[in-house]
Amino acid sequence: MNAPVVIIGTGLAGYNVAREFRKLDSDTPLLLITADDGRSYSKPMLSTGFGKNKEADALSMAEPGAMAEQLKAQVRTHTRISGIDPGHKRLWIGEEAVVYRDLILAWGAETVRVPVEGDGAELVFPINDLEDYARFRAAAAGKRRVLVLGAGLIGCEFANDLILGGYEVDLVAPCEQVMPTLLHPSAAAAVQAGLQGLGARFHLGPVLNRLQRSADGLEAHLSDGEVIQCDLVVSAIGLRPRIDLAAAAGLQVNRGIMVDRHLKTSHANIYALGDCAEVDGLNLLYVMPLMSCARALAQTLAGNATAVSYGPMPITVKTPVCPLVVSPPPRGSEGVWSVEGEGADIKALCRDASGRLLGYALTGTAVMEKLALNKELPPLLA
Ligand SMILES: Cc1cc2nc3c(=O)[nH]c(=O)nc-3n(C[C@H](O)[C@H](O)[C@H](O)COP(=O)(O)OP(=O)(O)OC[C@H]3O[C@@H](n4cnc5c(N)ncnc54)[C@H](O)[C@@H]3O)c2cc1C
Repeated sequence: MNAPVVIIGTGLAGYNVAREFRKLDSDTPLLLITADDGRSYSKPMLSTGFGKNKEADALSMAEPGAMAEQLKAQVRTHTRISGIDPGHKRLWIGEEAVVYRDLILAWGAETVRVPVEGDGAELVFPINDLEDYARFRAAAAGKRRVLVLGAGLIGCEFANDLILGGYEVDLVAPCEQVMPTLLHPSAAAAVQAGLQGLGARFHLGPVLNRLQRSADGLEAHLSDGEVIQCDLVVSAIGLRPRIDLAAAAGLQVNRGIMVDRHLKTSHANIYALGDCAEVDGLNLLYVMPLMSCARALAQTLAGNATAVSYGPMPITVKTPVCPLVVSPPPRGSEGVWSVEGEGADIKALCRDASGRLLGYALTGTAVMEKLALNKELPPLLA
């Protein structure tokens, strides 16, 4: 038998590249390998599950067996690859070697964890996949108060969702505003005010030092001396592309696994896409870029070398209490911000010296202007 195309990861990147490839090539053997249970699900839905009252099972769209059939592929679940041997075009699962024709790394990003002292540390939950979500839901059953660590996009989405699900939420982060790397301060203030209006309590500035069990749940000791009573903690302090196995195999890595516009790593026959990949210098942890990469890579794998390009890729943040769409200015661009609107309805625009739109942040009713503005935005990867 011919060596298969092997895809590591059954997240949106792995399954979508498989699906796109099968549209072009129905014969080449295809093997998907994943460390998790291999169910197909949409990760963005994880931060809407409490508001919609959905268990993990209800967020699963297909079992791995059904995916295998649909994709005419083998799907190996609960299987963690432990190494890559590019010289021999094979990878390792412990002692077992698997040969590949082409290898696609779609193994995602992992949650950043900070050490927390105290006997409550095991009640800190990252939620970065469906199994994490199931674990958190089980732990949260019958509980009332959740501390969210991190005020980035994911922390804010979870804060909104948990409140909709009936929980009290305190949010702790060492930054001055919500979504500091993504958002103009005016829009950040609107989102924060929206969440506060729902009852979220913000503690911006300190970090969590210690988590101590108490008679009534947990005591979270912050670095500024404040003590917050809670029942469990969601950690959303950031994601880091998985690069260790790639680096150990001698592939070039930077923030992510470095690939060119053809999604090719520094080694022949090895490609990467999704959260783990840094595409021509850009590591974007969103679905839209990943879908463009999946389509381009499928063409390349089917023998039609195709470079990926990114148009404008605005991000819709799922904080229903204060709708938000943001398109940060492309890297290296210089612009000046102007802010219109007030309260919940903010339109912040970034333009270059010649008046060309580089980016925006829209909140509240201003999000209705996104379609018109998108037409003016520059592509992220021309
Ligand atoms: C709560 C939340 C909300 C989000 N909301 C949005 C949104 O609204 N819009 C948006 O665009 N993006 C959103 N994102 C980001 C988006 O979900 C991700 O960019 C996308 O799902 C990444 O897909 P992926 O396939 O690259 O990685 P993953 O889904 O993380 O998949 C990685 C896969 O690799 C496997 N794996 C890892 N290591 C190994 C190994 N050694 N061996 C075998 N298998 C391995 C894992 O088991 C998994 O199957 C959100 C993310 C989160 C966490």
